[in-house]
Amino acid sequence: MGNYLDNNIKFVPGVGEARAGLLARELGIVTMRDMLAHYPFRYIDRTKIYRIGEISESLNAAYVQFRARVTGIGFAGTGRKRRFSVYVSDSTGSAELIWFQGIKWIEKRIEVGREYLIFGRPSFFRGELSMVHPEVENIEKALSRHVESGLQGIYSTTEKLSGALGTKGFYNIICNLWALVKDRIDDPLSDAFRQKYGLIPLREALRNIHFPQSPELLKQAQYRLKFDELLGVQLNIQAQRSTRMSRRNGFLFPRVGDAFNTFYNEKLPFPLTGAQKRVVKEIRNDTVSGWQMNRLLQGDVGSGKTVVALLSMLLAVDNGFQACMMAPTEILARQHFATITRMLEGVGVEVAILTGASKARERRHALEGIADGSVKILIGTHALIEEKVVFSNLGFVVIDEQHRFGVEQRARMWTKNLQPPHILVMTATPIPRTLAMTLYGDLDVSVIDELPPNRRPIMTAHYFDSARLRLFGFMREQIHKGRQIYVVYPLIKESEAMDYKDLTDGFESISRDFPLPEYRVAVCHGKMKPEDKEESMRQFKEGQADILVATSVIEVGVDVPNATVMVIESAERFGLSQLHQLRGRVGRGGEQSYCILMSGEKLSKEARQRLDAMCQTNDGFKLAELDLKLRGAGDINGTQQSGMAFDLKIANPTLDVQILQITQQAAIETLGGDPQLAKPENAGLRELKMVYNTDKTMDFSMIS
Ligand code: ADP
Ligand code: MG
Repeated sequence: MGNYLDNNIKFVPGVGEARAGLLARELGIVTMRDMLAHYPFRYIDRTKIYRIGEISESLNAAYVQFRARVTGIGFAGTGRKRRFSVYVSDSTGSAELIWFQGIKWIEKRIEVGREYLIFGRPSFFRGELSMVHPEVENIEKALSRHVESGLQGIYSTTEKLSGALGTKGFYNIICNLWALVKDRIDDPLSDAFRQKYGLIPLREALRNIHFPQSPELLKQAQYRLKFDELLGVQLNIQAQRSTRMSRRNGFLFPRVGDAFNTFYNEKLPFPLTGAQKRVVKEIRNDTVSGWQMNRLLQGDVGSGKTVVALLSMLLAVDNGFQACMMAPTEILARQHFATITRMLEGVGVEVAILTGASKARERRHALEGIADGSVKILIGTHALIEEKVVFSNLGFVVIDEQHRFGVEQRARMWTKNLQPPHILVMTATPIPRTLAMTLYGDLDVSVIDELPPNRRPIMTAHYFDSARLRLFGFMREQIHKGRQIYVVYPLIKESEAMDYKDLTDGFESISRDFPLPEYRVAVCHGKMKPEDKEESMRQFKEGQADILVATSVIEVGVDVPNATVMVIESAERFGLSQLHQLRGRVGRGGEQSYCILMSGEKLSKEARQRLDAMCQTNDGFKLAELDLKLRGAGDINGTQQSGMAFDLKIANPTLDVQILQITQQAAIETLGGDPQLAKPENAGLRELKMVYNTDKTMDFSMIS
């Protein structure tokens, strides 16, 4: 595409400096190209006009349009809480329209007694229809408007942005943008290529994605744009794979020596499960093959991934190499360090830890030890990828709980060596292999599909906030039995003041409702100093606290076998895999364990499905599958949260499996005939590849 598209969005009529600033801050839209790639996330049929009586919760529509007459207006509240209501009705019912912002502006435009066309997101309170910040248009004007196919795109926006721009404002900007750019769009795919795969020209695709001429053309547009994204990704993955397979530069671990054998025969506190044995064998095969291993290990929470990682690291040690293990949080790194140090007692393998919170002595010990080779296993957080960390001969890298890592952090691991170490990535969020590759790059996949024996399934229940007293009764009972309890509050971003408030309020209410001195409560959240967090965790671990009130910082890996109850507050605000991870914190000892999901009464359909699924199954694989389906359908932030290596705007590797497979084949074929994409007819493909070739992809093999 030409550079024209890289112009700032502020030059589009209707935008200007102020809105451009807002678009950048709220949606990350800076250039015209960005805006053009801000595709509608759904379409509504603007030819359909509902009657109020037809609009109910069971209609399950995200947006609806209806015509009604204004019967009255009203104001309530003051200052920032001020709201403006417009009451409307037709012969079938009545509804309330509500504004919190732009009240003056809307007030001037509303006339009691007149009829309007009203468009917005319906919500229901006791069965009554209401709409916050709907789009309201004089009926005569609305009916005279011409819409090409009746399908109008709905763009994702934020609260701030919709206050300043609105659905219609946004739509107008897209129209103006299209007028500017429509003749400046180059197609990266040649006619021949397009014909072969049945793709419409890019220009047609972009036009129809924003302004569908027909449902059929919209489908073709979506197909084309998804195809481009997945092809761009596949070109990178397949190129990486062939580079990796062409170089036999993987470290060799032929020996099974003292460290492995002593640990396995004398220290391992339990027999390995069949699945664990199989995975150790797979890793062993990889590390004698001559190729560099790049393996994803999937295994449900509690399936015993840590010991597999440890055995693999001992293989490296037995062959004269160092190994490191990177965990996503301080707490988890410390816990791994404690577990592994304990398990290796008497084995004679030096283990060190390095995290952002390491004090001078610990840090020096770790840094010197790995540089002079005396430390064989280094455990830590992303502090491990700092420049100062220089291994004497790193041969094996374990990355635990992959999904929590930023993409860039992953990619930097391999620069630690001249020759790439073997990489084992572990995750409790299982995903299909094709999807794993799209998310994380070129990987082989191992699965632990068997839990250690004698685990009692965790019992999960969902309660509304109104049942809180019963919850407290149950908590008391468990504490009296000597058990410990987690209470977790949501935390979307660690910096969000609101979440912090939720937590402190929750903490206070728990202290209030548990006034007896024998209930000891510890608290742990992201805003605390690392040493205070540590202290709280220590108290809980050592049984000096009965209840740990925490944010989702404890999500991964924490191991306190005496904790039998996991209470998740505002459970509707968590994703499914997060809920499952949290639940995995209990059920680690011999006692029956419980997971209690607390939520408000008002639940979206997806939230309800998530909570129901949690109550129905403990199977992480099933939940992961459902999670991907739900997210694909609803959550527009899905890709962001999944930590995908690529910024996909429209393709969803879970739902678009078929396109994924076609593009994979197309990439293999194309690269087979032209590995560097150097031929003139492949110039566009080379560019497409570059769009998705960030150093961000987990490419551990591209060391020259
Ligand atoms: P995860 O896969 O979630 O990281 P862990 O490695 O933390 O799971 O293991 C969970 C618990 O199960 C630990 O307490 C561990 O010691 C125990 N465990 C692991 N493997 C086995 C096994 N084969 N038999 C019995 N217990 C095991
Ligand atoms: Mg783990």
